[in-house]
Amino acid sequence: MSVYDVAVIGSGPGGYVAAIRCAQLGMKTAIIEKYNVLGGTCLNVGCIPSKALLDSSHRYEDAIKHFEDHGIEIPGEVKVNFKKMVERKASVVDQTTKGIDFLMSKNNIDVFTGVGSFVDATHIEIKGEETQTIEAKHTIIATGSKPSTLPFITLDKERVITSTEALKLPEVPKHLVVIGGGVIGLELGQVYRRLGAEVSVIEYMDRIIPTMDSAQSKELTKALKKQGVKFFLSHKVSDVTRKGDEVTITATDKKDKEVTFTGDYCLVSVGRKPNTEGLGADKAGIKITERGQVEVNDHLQTNISNIYAIGDVIKGAMLAHKAEEEGVFVAETLAGQKPHIDYNLIPGVVYTWPEVASVGKTEEQLKETKVAYKVGQFPMRALGRSRASGDIEGFVKILTDETTDEVLGVHMVGARVADLIAEAVVAMEFRASAEDISRMSHAHPTYAEAVKEAALAATGDRALHI
Ligand code: FAD
Ligand code: NAD
Repeated sequence: MSVYDVAVIGSGPGGYVAAIRCAQLGMKTAIIEKYNVLGGTCLNVGCIPSKALLDSSHRYEDAIKHFEDHGIEIPGEVKVNFKKMVERKASVVDQTTKGIDFLMSKNNIDVFTGVGSFVDATHIEIKGEETQTIEAKHTIIATGSKPSTLPFITLDKERVITSTEALKLPEVPKHLVVIGGGVIGLELGQVYRRLGAEVSVIEYMDRIIPTMDSAQSKELTKALKKQGVKFFLSHKVSDVTRKGDEVTITATDKKDKEVTFTGDYCLVSVGRKPNTEGLGADKAGIKITERGQVEVNDHLQTNISNIYAIGDVIKGAMLAHKAEEEGVFVAETLAGQKPHIDYNLIPGVVYTWPEVASVGKTEEQLKETKVAYKVGQFPMRALGRSRASGDIEGFVKILTDETTDEVLGVHMVGARVADLIAEAVVAMEFRASAEDISRMSHAHPTYAEAVKEAALAATGDRALHI
């Protein structure tokens, strides 16, 4: 029987990164993945394919709606070849997952294909084409998550679908009804809206992306409405029925009035749940919380001292980069180092256009915890760069401590803010004040100038270009 210093179960961004870091630190490492393609949700049916479709559909939208403004005329009709678009997405996924194969072999990590299941705390059975058992001194559980649904919904995966099917539909829907105005609903809703579908988003709360700063919800709602997405907020879905090619969704609005929606596809995007299926957690005595997550302490260690867990299967934000940080954290902990993760500084991004990005506390959280704060906000439309590209929607909003001027939260909507948020993360990591940011030179003309201007606005209303 092969014996490993570390076995990682699950090859998503949490698992494969943990395996690489363990191997870099000299541990004999195995990774177990139930599918024969590595990369987990993120690479196969999450981050990467959704961004590929967002990018392709964005280019189409630019061609039909915005090229003319730039003086570009396309003779004849611009058409979408949806099949080719989906094939390109598949090829992007393929290239990316092959990259993980390369990284595993470069780092001498043994890859096992099959469902990993604990026999006891130090032995894992792998059920693949053949069944084998390995011994592991330490195990890292990185089994991720899967789409959750509502109790009365039957996901037939043809017309009543999750994000996984929405990434490989055979056609562009005529009317896509989206249940849940969170990240998945909005990103994939925008893809299909751009490609010509009518898109209706039904959201339970009174605003979309409800965990982000409310100014972002408002700005994104405005932008997406302009693009033709319809929103039904404060609506409680009570039934979803498919008849033939038609799906009828029943909901009650905030006045308790029944409303029905009929579409040819219904995307259920109401969150994801931790995945511990087939893991045999009970055989090793691992505690699972009421919410189905693997319970961990501050060292990401389970109640069984040689078993750790990371990523979507434990508490916290379900984000690829959070899973990656945790993978590195556990590997370094096992090597005797004392790593640290500041969860407050894990950024959140929605890859719609305009993009939405956040780090730190929202204004709502500061109010709730009674922290005295200042706000500096700067609109993208006042930037030369935004006018040059025509991307004038959005803003940068900086929240600072009223007394010390330390940056407590940064919230952005606009072109390329998914990349701009990194400046805010660096600033907050080094506990910068708004004054610090406002004194740093930002290249002109860039979208990043909005960060400097918002910092100027936060420190005594000194923004220069408004
Ligand atoms: P996963 O990526 O879920 O990987 C877990 C792996 O474990 C899977 O491959 C699974 O097959 C395997 N597994 C499970 N049980 C076993 C077992 N018993 N034996 C062997 N293998 C097993 N996050 C972002 O940060 N940015 C984005 O842009 C983004 N976009 C997304 C878009 C969509 C449509 C979706 C669905 C998610 C998106 N996410 C995004 C979230 C991101 O995909 C997850 O947070 C991330 O994949 C979690 O990583 P993980 O390693 O914890 O688990
Ligand atoms: P989410 O938590 O982002 O959004 C779910 C939405 O559904 C929320 O707005 C919620 O209020 C709403 N909702 C819940 N129950 C409802 C009901 N009964 N009726 C109507 N609305 C209801 O979840 P998601 O969009 O499914 O995404 C799942 C996870 O995947 C998220 O945690 C997210 O972090 C991750 N993800 C991240 C990215 C990214 O980083 N860009 C992209 C996609 C997914």
